[in-house]
Amino acid sequence: MSDLDSIVELNKTLQELAAARQRLDGIPDWMEELHEEHSGRLAEIEGEEARRAEAEKVRREAEAAVSDAQEKLQRYQLQISQVTTQREYGALLKEIDGVKTEIKENEEAAVAAMEASEEAEQQVETMRSDFQELDQRYQDELAKWEEEKPGVEETAAHLKQRAEELKKEVPRGLLSLFQRLYERTNGNAVAEVVRLPMVKGNPMYHCTACNYNVRPQTLVELSRGQIHHCDSCKRILYYKPDAGEA
Ligand SMILES: [Zn+2]
Repeated sequence: MSDLDSIVELNKTLQELAAARQRLDGIPDWMEELHEEHSGRLAEIEGEEARRAEAEKVRREAEAAVSDAQEKLQRYQLQISQVTTQREYGALLKEIDGVKTEIKENEEAAVAAMEASEEAEQQVETMRSDFQELDQRYQDELAKWEEEKPGVEETAAHLKQRAEELKKEVPRGLLSLFQRLYERTNGNAVAEVVRLPMVKGNPMYHCTACNYNVRPQTLVELSRGQIHHCDSCKRILYYKPDAGEA
């Protein structure tokens, strides 16, 4: 195997390894959609539960305000017998009116909050029961994924081993160049050269990563296993004469 072949395979192996690791860290592709739906629905239920808790808090506060106001009202009513002037009497009645309004407003607020809380509770119940089927499906898929995981782990271990072997086959200078490129290009350090339709009877080639032209002379050198970089994106070029050419 030429150095170029090793580099191309190393690039592919590292990409597959990265994909396997990403899969192990997260949710597999085939679960992505279900996962989104599942977490979306869970968030909706939690949102509704939060609304219910908020309504309960408002209700408790309103009820506390009612009982405070009722105590105040009782005190005022006891004071009625103690007033001596018409003026004091008038002022006290005004206070009593005010506190009665306070009671009424808070009672109404408590009732409204209780209704809101009950509505939210019912909503949560409906949502939870609607959610059951989806949740079960999700738990089943998760279990399936857990079963698949060891296989993916094994694949990742093989890929890692293969990458180490390939790294040993490539001269050190070329390897570090490749590694820098691999990092800079976010994991795609090589690019295939393909032939384009003839232009004025001459074959044209370009880099599939950036579409920049590749000189025919470069093709000849590539087929001898020489290392060439794309003039534009600097990726290491490779060419498979039989691929995609009629
Ligand atoms: Zn390029």
